[in-house]
Amino acid sequence: MVSTQVKKNIVTIGASSAVQGLALQWYEKAPATHRLIMIELKSHFNFVFAFPRASVKSGFERELFIPYDRLFNEDDQIGKVVHARVIAIHEHHVELDREVPEFGRRIDFEYLIYAAGTKIPEPGRLHCNSKQEGVALLKKYQSVIKESKRPIIIGAGAVGLELACEIKEQYPDKHVTLMHSRSRYMARYMQSVDSMTYNVLKKHGVKQVLGDRAILPENGFPLEVKPIEVHTKAGKKIQGDLGIMCIGMKPNTELLAELSPDSINKKTGFVNVKKTMQIDDDRFPHFFAAGDVVEHTDVKTGHFAWMQGLAVLENLLKLIEGGSYNDLEPYKSKDVALIKLVLGDREAVMQTNAFGPLIAVGSWIAGRSTPHNVYAEMGWNILKTPYEEKNLDL
Ligand SMILES: Cc1cc2nc3c(=O)[nH]c(=O)nc-3n(C[C@H](O)[C@H](O)[C@H](O)COP(=O)(O)OP(=O)(O)OC[C@H]3O[C@@H](n4cnc5c(N)ncnc54)[C@H](O)[C@@H]3O)c2cc1C
Repeated sequence: MVSTQVKKNIVTIGASSAVQGLALQWYEKAPATHRLIMIELKSHFNFVFAFPRASVKSGFERELFIPYDRLFNEDDQIGKVVHARVIAIHEHHVELDREVPEFGRRIDFEYLIYAAGTKIPEPGRLHCNSKQEGVALLKKYQSVIKESKRPIIIGAGAVGLELACEIKEQYPDKHVTLMHSRSRYMARYMQSVDSMTYNVLKKHGVKQVLGDRAILPENGFPLEVKPIEVHTKAGKKIQGDLGIMCIGMKPNTELLAELSPDSINKKTGFVNVKKTMQIDDDRFPHFFAAGDVVEHTDVKTGHFAWMQGLAVLENLLKLIEGGSYNDLEPYKSKDVALIKLVLGDREAVMQTNAFGPLIAVGSWIAGRSTPHNVYAEMGWNILKTPYEEKNLDL
């Protein structure tokens, strides 16, 4: 039997979608020589998929922050989630911002998986790290949105679209404006996703301002209700009393850039990877990257992050079993963009291949099946903690 001391570490930076599928597989297949150490600054997995709804509707906030402790059934010989922020990466170790049991402030590794994701403005993702703060922040959004009479949402990606519909459904009397710089929604998806979405928003009574770019204040909008006027490039002026930004995704690549500036895409700031998902820097063949942080043609969704993570694991297992870097396999993306836009309790637009060919379907099929917590139970299942009342405050 191999003792903990001699086991080598595979370290992940981030423990979200890009790493979770990989971790579940690792639990089944882990060789006796290595452990998976997932470093995550958030105390709980943030089930962001439901944040647009939970910023408006109350009662299920606790369900959206899921503990990590049982992911490896408490067998830390196989794997462990360490809660800390990585503050520096070196060739064979990372530095943490705090002391953690067993490791102190330094964790050595043989292989690194960089899965640090992206930043977007609140409430799409919350800029806090504990469950308590996260629940409080969602409640703050609920109360500010309730107070507002004329909210303006800037950016109509999935988050902006869902948020606009949730607000208008909960508060039909509010005057909700959704601004989008492009002339169609969800450009990576079928044309019919755009038209069905447009019609659902129209039915809800959302004012849609398309094909015109908002000129934004440098520091965004404060989270308070007070008169605002948003100007557009084309010269429109839109009045409201609350601005919510749903644009501006930025990759979390500063850390990797310190050690390996060459692997960062100069135009976009995301991580360039080889087909094998190794970072594109020959000095660090033992560094892999996966998920939203990667420069890739895959749409940035949990599904693709998960699939990329699995591809990384297959390659790591090859190396651990004695293979060479030349034996690594390319990640083969299925390259089909799938989505379910939850546009309130009864409406949804979905692009799916569940019935065979890739099709877009509207509310008649997709709309009535969304649970109130937008599938949060799935997150609890992945992290192996039963979705039961007694666990919701863990
Ligand atoms: C509101 C919203 C709704 C969405 N809805 C859907 C949906 O319905 N379906 C779908 O498939 N996708 C959806 N997505 C997209 C999906 O959430 C992302 O594609 C997915 O989360 C990407 O996973 P990731 O692991 O690559 O990155 P992330 O989820 O961004 O995770 C990165 C992790 O790294 C951690 N981290 C970063 N830096 C450090 C550090 N220095 N030290 C330690 N930890 C660090 C972060 O805390 C974070 O937990 C949605 C996204 C949002 C924001």
